[in-house]
Amino acid sequence: MKTIETFDFKKKKALIRVDFNVPLNSNFEITDDNRIRAAMPTIKKILASGGSVILMSHLGRPKAGYEEKFSLRHLVKHISKLSGANVKFAGDCIGNKPLEMAENLKPGEILLLENLRFHKEEEKGNEEFAAELASLADVYVNDAFGTAHRAHASTAIIAKFFPENKMFGYLIESELKSMDKVLKDSQKPFTAIMGGAKVSDKILIIENLLDRVDNLVIGGGMVYTFIKARGGSIGSSIVEEDKLDMALELFEKAKEKNVKLVLPVDNVVADKFDAEASVQKTAVDNVPDGWMGLDIGEESINHITEIIRDSKTILWNGPMGVFEMEKFEAGTRSIALAIAEATSRGAFSLIGGGDSVAAINKYDLGDKVSYVSTGGGAMLEYMEGKELPGIKAIMG
Ligand code: AMP
Repeated sequence: MKTIETFDFKKKKALIRVDFNVPLNSNFEITDDNRIRAAMPTIKKILASGGSVILMSHLGRPKAGYEEKFSLRHLVKHISKLSGANVKFAGDCIGNKPLEMAENLKPGEILLLENLRFHKEEEKGNEEFAAELASLADVYVNDAFGTAHRAHASTAIIAKFFPENKMFGYLIESELKSMDKVLKDSQKPFTAIMGGAKVSDKILIIENLLDRVDNLVIGGGMVYTFIKARGGSIGSSIVEEDKLDMALELFEKAKEKNVKLVLPVDNVVADKFDAEASVQKTAVDNVPDGWMGLDIGEESINHITEIIRDSKTILWNGPMGVFEMEKFEAGTRSIALAIAEATSRGAFSLIGGGDSVAAINKYDLGDKVSYVSTGGGAMLEYMEGKELPGIKAIMG
């Protein structure tokens, strides 16, 4: 397999699939440029090695063709600022103009293509569309981890047109490295902390992790499906009635595999789902009628914190409670802090999944953990043990 580190980019045109799906405000200004920054090491490496760069991405979910608010035109200036390079804009991603501009591109320059999803062929994984994109460049680099679980034209299909000259960018490389460190090469004890609203979203990842972890901590709304399955009273807490049997099976599987399944013992309950709700503390299996559990309690926090402190590998996906509201954020914040502390003492910690990433950023701990994944869905699927089309296309 070729790698970006060793490939000779001199005088080569590199077509990079990036994930520049960034939020824009009503003046088309970028409100969070993390995804653009994440691709910069790859872009800069190729430019510094004497190559030129053609960038392609999607932005938002355009329905049928061009829409101003989803145009990548709005990103040109910022990409130029971050890269220090001259950035040209192609106006489309296929057709004569991009082809001409790509042909005239000089080493050290960047050509930005228009939103791939203005053409329905992108999401359909259309081969002719992929071939047209491929005709623009000498080498294909995939650095869009966030879309690696999609078999789209630019993320997977296109790779076949570069049988010799295809590789990952630095971002995907480091995502894979940290996920593999957890899945395939973890130091023990390994603790996975799963939270969030629904157990049904996390069931596959939990099952895959049961073969690997020593401790599986459950928090967030999914707790109540487990508690109810065991006959506890959960009041009006969130529950998935059709997953009660499955929750019981998970208890059994954990026992078989010698995994310690850790559920909270106490919680903070509220009389309504509201930042101003009245609250009280109860045992997790004794929630009064009409009340709902919205955060883990103090005793649980202390117990989980101890487990984290003794762990060498930590995977965290999903908040422990409704951390968006101050009254219910203590669990999530304490767990985030405990993970940061364990990391400072040598543990490897991987944070992934939209809301735990938001939580780690809310508490400003992004640089105090080992790795924060950029790809929500892609990360989950990889952790479930699935093969991602965008990864397979490069490796295979
Ligand atoms: P997910 O996307 O599945 O990781 O879920 C994240 C969401 O779950 C966050 O927005 C939390 O507010 C929510 N959540 C966490 N704990 C609870 C709970 N006990 N009851 C209801 N929602 C919760």
